[in-house]
Amino acid sequence: MSHDFMSTLTGSFAMPAAENPTVAVMDAVFAHHGLNARYINCEIAPDSLGNAVRGALAMGFAGFNCSLPHKVHVIEFLDELAPSASIIGAVNCVVIKDGRLIGENTDGKGFVESLRTVVDPAGKDIVLFGAGGAARAIAVESALAGASTITVVNTTVSRGQDLVDRINADTQATATLVHWDQPYAIPASTDIVVNATSVGLFPDIEARLNIDTSTLLSTMVVADVIPNPPKTRLLTDAADRGCTTLDGMGMLVNQGRVAIKLWTGVDVDGQVMRQTLEDLFA
Ligand code: NDP
Repeated sequence: MSHDFMSTLTGSFAMPAAENPTVAVMDAVFAHHGLNARYINCEIAPDSLGNAVRGALAMGFAGFNCSLPHKVHVIEFLDELAPSASIIGAVNCVVIKDGRLIGENTDGKGFVESLRTVVDPAGKDIVLFGAGGAARAIAVESALAGASTITVVNTTVSRGQDLVDRINADTQATATLVHWDQPYAIPASTDIVVNATSVGLFPDIEARLNIDTSTLLSTMVVADVIPNPPKTRLLTDAADRGCTTLDGMGMLVNQGRVAIKLWTGVDVDGQVMRQTLEDLFA
């Protein structure tokens, strides 16, 4: 019987790192599929990032995730950027192929994969709350997936305008900004509503978006980025109004699936990953 003691190496570079649950999710799904792969959770200080990246390359890593505070800084150590990472201007996943370091962004890809389980964003009108990192990734990836219009609703105008300008300059979608200074009435023609703000995140779980909930219609898909708790106030309100809902855990799980696919070529079972996360958050 032959053995293979050489694992596929992957991991995460972040600071802090100790509370990041991704390694548990990755271990569970690697074991489920019998994949000989490791995910190493590394705490990397900003001034060590270059050495860490060169180390991963030297040790033959298939790739690694990078989280705060490295998502922009890591770009200077890479050979190329995938299209969405380039438009978003941030990298949270690096793929190493034939000695080349390629920057990807799985935030938006995870969202779109999750979205596709209920609706294809192509040709759709999207209302997006927020203009931070998660919103930027979702807007860019939805636009690249063929969304028709994206209405960005944000409290800080400059941040919202920046995102709108980027979408209009670099994608086929048409983006507009709404300054969010009063309860927002969602236009009836909207197909997909996305909360990409941090409103609803544990422990402030009763927090509500500043919207007129009577404008949520059963024809709409309502998605939340908040993974914990998965059933946010927004999703409860939306379900009460007959909308199709999608939680942030789906986005998180699909980010992991996208990363594993990029690193190993294998399509893994999201349900195993989701169950691991639910057990951890419980
Ligand atoms: P950022 O800090 O970059 O952006 C936060 C956004 O939320 C900004 O647009 C901000 O508005 C808005 N915001 C915050 N508080 C309020 C409020 N009370 N009312 C209205 N708007 C508000 O954060 P990220 O984009 O990185 O993360 C946002 C959320 O997404 C987090 O809760 C995170 O958990 C989640 N997330 C989930 C992922 C998943 O896979 N499920 C992946 C990544 C993130 P302004 O610009 O006016 O300040």
